[in-house]
Amino acid sequence: MNSPPEFNLTPELDAEIRRAAELLCEARHCVGLTGAGLSVESGIPPFRGKGGLWTKHGEPPLDGYQRFLRDPAGEWRKRLAPTESWAIALHETLGSAKPNAGHRAFAELERRSLLASLITQNVDDLHGQAGSHQLLEIHGNFRRLRCLECVTRFDPKDIAVDPENLPPHCPECGGVVKGDTVQFGEPIPRDVLECCQETVARADCMLVAGTSATVFPAAEFPIDVLRRGGCVIEVNPEPSELTPLATLSLPGPGGALLERLLHHSAAIAGEVAS
Ligand SMILES: [Zn+2]
Repeated sequence: MNSPPEFNLTPELDAEIRRAAELLCEARHCVGLTGAGLSVESGIPPFRGKGGLWTKHGEPPLDGYQRFLRDPAGEWRKRLAPTESWAIALHETLGSAKPNAGHRAFAELERRSLLASLITQNVDDLHGQAGSHQLLEIHGNFRRLRCLECVTRFDPKDIAVDPENLPPHCPECGGVVKGDTVQFGEPIPRDVLECCQETVARADCMLVAGTSATVFPAAEFPIDVLRRGGCVIEVNPEPSELTPLATLSLPGPGGALLERLLHHSAAIAGEVAS
């Protein structure tokens, strides 16, 4: 586990966080949006760039989904006994990561009814482990399986995987089952995409953390909220393409900033002394 990054809470920044907490408390329907940056403090490096998983271990094929459709049995054999360096590194990194203060803050905001739902681009399961329930995992969850026909998700222990008879089939509809993680070339599952569009259409506030939200479909969500007169609060260590558009941008590590945001929200709600 990485130690939390240094964080200099100046009075100016704290006043901005307090302002963000006010926006959050005034909102009727706030939606969270998170990406890889939020899980860096849990020891999951970004995929690309310096120290990135793909940079060090090579990238998964860009037509991963098409390969699966062509040869599901072959791709399942690779899944059961991974040999590619990137697949082994990904499995080990995700398998040992634990939620950090940022994940816990999102779960607590939901518990306090300050967050209606949480859209994440992460597949690492850490929001779920931290206690978020209204969770929309647009790129799937590496710990689950999904039927390609009826889109039902399964815990792997509930699906009989016979190495002699691959791929496994859905007990509900007989469709082919694959990992829930959305691969390169694979469309976002229609059910989760519809739920995202529904909650974003109702949102008058969006709390974005650890993502520059430049990739479809996530890129459209904050823009949609802004276009309808809502506010967007960004939490990011580095300025992003969203920074000039956001109503408020809080620079710094997600864990510490979100913890402080939670503190101010609670203070506004009168639960603790400010
Ligand atoms: Zn099915």
